Amino acid sequence: MASSHVESLLPVGELWVPAVCPCCASRTGGGTCPVCFWTDDGQGDADAEDVRGGPNGELSLTHARLNFAVYGASHPRYQDMVRPPRPDERP
Ligand SMILES: [Zn+2]
Repeated sequence: MASSHVESLLPVGELWVPAVCPCCASRTGGGTCPVCFWTDDGQGDADAEDVRGGPNGELSLTHARLNFAVYGASHPRYQDMVRPPRPDERP
C-alpha cells in the first residue's frame, strides 16, 4: 500500500530536496517522520526546550532527540512504528 506520508520540499540551490527532520536529522521531508515519528510542527533549535502540546504531545524537541538517541524513536511508544532511514535520507 502506498504511504500516506506527504513530503514537503525545501529549495537548496537549484535542487529541491526533502526537508530535514529536526529530531533525527534524516531527510524525511517534514510531516511525521517515519524514522523517529517526530511530527515536524516548525519547532527547531531556537525553541527546542518548549513543550508545544501539538502533534508531539508532551514532548519537547530536546526530549524527543534524547529519546531517539536511546530508543531509536522520538518516544518509546513509537519504537515499533519507526524504520531505519533509507540511504538517501541519511543525514
Ligand atoms: Zn525524524
